[in-house]
Amino acid sequence: MSSLRFKSVEEASSRKAVKVDIPEERVDRYYGCQVFNRQKMFEYLPKDTYNALVDAIDNKKPLSRNVADSVAEGMKRWAIEQGARHYTHWFHPLTDGTAEKHDSFISHDGKGGVVEEFSGKLLVQQEPDASSFPNGGIRNTFEARGYSAWDISSPAFIMGNTLCIPTVFIAYTGESLDYKTPLLKALNSVDKAATRVARYFDPEVNHVTSNLGWEQEYFLVDEALYAARPDLVMTGRTLMGHESAKNQQLEDHYFGAIPSRVEAFMLDLEIECHKLGIPAKTRHNEVAPNQFEVAPIFEETNLANDHNLQLMSLMTEVAKRHNFRVLLHEKPFAGINGSGKHNNWSLSTDRGVLLFAPGKTPEANLQFITFVANVMGAVHKHNGLMKASIVNATNAHRLGGHEAPPAIISIFLGKALSELLEKIGSDNYMEELRIAGKEKLDLDLVQIPDLRQDNTDRNRTSPFAFTGNRFEYRAVGSSANCAAAMIALNAAVADQLNLFADKVDARMAKGEDRTAAIVAEVRDLVNASKDVCFDGNGYSDEWKEEAKRRGLNVETSAPLIYDTYMKPETVEMFKRTGVFTPVELQARNEVKWEMYIKKIQIESRVLGDLAINHIIPAATRYQSLLLDNVYKIKELFSEEKAAHIAAQDMASIEQMADHMAAIRSGVDRMVERRHFANRRPTDREKAIAYHDEVVPAMEEIRGHIDALELMVDNEIWPLPKYRELLFIR
Ligand code: ADP
Ligand code: MG
Repeated sequence: MSSLRFKSVEEASSRKAVKVDIPEERVDRYYGCQVFNRQKMFEYLPKDTYNALVDAIDNKKPLSRNVADSVAEGMKRWAIEQGARHYTHWFHPLTDGTAEKHDSFISHDGKGGVVEEFSGKLLVQQEPDASSFPNGGIRNTFEARGYSAWDISSPAFIMGNTLCIPTVFIAYTGESLDYKTPLLKALNSVDKAATRVARYFDPEVNHVTSNLGWEQEYFLVDEALYAARPDLVMTGRTLMGHESAKNQQLEDHYFGAIPSRVEAFMLDLEIECHKLGIPAKTRHNEVAPNQFEVAPIFEETNLANDHNLQLMSLMTEVAKRHNFRVLLHEKPFAGINGSGKHNNWSLSTDRGVLLFAPGKTPEANLQFITFVANVMGAVHKHNGLMKASIVNATNAHRLGGHEAPPAIISIFLGKALSELLEKIGSDNYMEELRIAGKEKLDLDLVQIPDLRQDNTDRNRTSPFAFTGNRFEYRAVGSSANCAAAMIALNAAVADQLNLFADKVDARMAKGEDRTAAIVAEVRDLVNASKDVCFDGNGYSDEWKEEAKRRGLNVETSAPLIYDTYMKPETVEMFKRTGVFTPVELQARNEVKWEMYIKKIQIESRVLGDLAINHIIPAATRYQSLLLDNVYKIKELFSEEKAAHIAAQDMASIEQMADHMAAIRSGVDRMVERRHFANRRPTDREKAIAYHDEVVPAMEEIRGHIDALELMVDNEIWPLPKYRELLFIR
């Protein structure tokens, strides 16, 4: 056992579970101990400051400079007591992940020493020298500055020894350069629009909150095996590797017993989450071997998303303590399930009502139907945008793949809800309603509570499913910032709700009864948008045909899907909701195309390198062993006998020669196509060429490598195989 591969396998399989440092106190004692939450604010801030801050947070008011100074002082005192020495404005640039630049609290005291200082000015706004973050050309050289500003709605927290202040990141010209700014705008617009509609049913509603409960899927790989796979290290996925004889076909991993090494990791992760106030609740094995999931209790969307980003950083760190590497890539292994991040999404009023939950009274149920119909309308109109919000170079591998949502956005409503909407949609419903009066409505709508049972049987193939009191957006990728999907969804729904309310208001202005006006508009909306509903098998080819007939977006090329962001109906929608200006949309698309190009370019380079420097030499070595053998056979045996005995080896030698030749020419072709793509005049065209030309060339090369893996002596094969990577002992 001398090769790197065998050393890694040996190391990986000899590891035991790492002992976890379990706090002695109960969870409720250390929950949120690293967060400057309201309890800490109350403890560390003067009373006036506390009141002013809470008022600003709850009522979305700006904070005065004096209050900010006072908050900064209290926050610093708390952070230093917790052992923090640095602070950072923590933001979400357009690369996925988070960015932070740490500054220490120290400044000169004027006497040759230092004091630890933190002012309101530093808390509230900074100018990170962040000119190298992707900005799609918004910040070119003459206006290279951007600033980060405190998002008071998400509490500051301590990660490692650093006080992290959640911030937005904006160009000096005002355009957003991050995910958080447009997310906050979209949440604001859905709050206003949904409040407007909810007030038809309850005039006391003042705010509607958007909620998000994400389910984070991931793979774990032993770190020694990971280190022996340059493709995993550099691209987060395996660019080659033949399927393992056993993978998920027995379905024995899903909800199975969690291996002890993994359980230790999960426990450790959960403790760290709870310290950061992330309400991690569920953990289990997923369908594929080595695939797992962690999910918290849902929270307000902006906070939930900050928590998800913190979790992704935490996972990476905690995994290292357990000699694991966490793979957040959507498709680290071909042929088995990829990883997603289901976004469970709902709207709720400040009067405690979940707007997608069926109620007990006809009024409540009409409200429920109204909101569901508006989601239908939004997703129907913007199904292409919804897809554009979740697709990228990595998630593209998962969509339409094995056990993953199809690359067409449709809604699963379930039988009972579909039938109910159908009734509302019928022409004589108003007539019936008028004849039967309120009681008829009663009868029709009170059936809805049964929905809960109906929806226990969920359609796993739907990318966007109604699940009892929420929608579950399943197409979101495991490595993604949920904000992209949440911006598109919340903005589209906000816009739809406003259009709906305009129409209802117009009817009421003409003297129509409120309920009649709402029912009529819901009916029209359901009729206009029911094409987006599909309860059948989303993986089937028939659905692709059917979806095309229905006018849904069936494009599968990521660079072309991004065009949806620039379609007039998208641009107008984002303008009306105040979420994006056309300049921002264009700039963001430039970033998307650029990221797409870079990701495929890196993968293609790594593949070329591995093919030529790892695979061909290994195959050549084995081929030469076979050749030696053939020569020896020929020396020992008669010509006729030798031909017989060496026949298999000869055939293998030839086959291997063919594969190797194909790999060599494939790599040449791939490099040529890359050069071709790089010469395209715009990033959009480059990205299209990478998709159309480079990706197929990569797949072809992989096919030959995977065939060689089955032929070459196991002792010689240089890279850990799927069967080794995928089964933690
Ligand atoms: P699943 O069966 O799909 O795994 P879970 O019960 O584990 O579903 O819940 C998944 C996520 O959905 C959790 O984060 C949970 O808190 C969240 N969730 C539950 N109800 C709602 C809701 N009304 N709005 C948003 N998220 C919700
Ligand atoms: Mg789920």
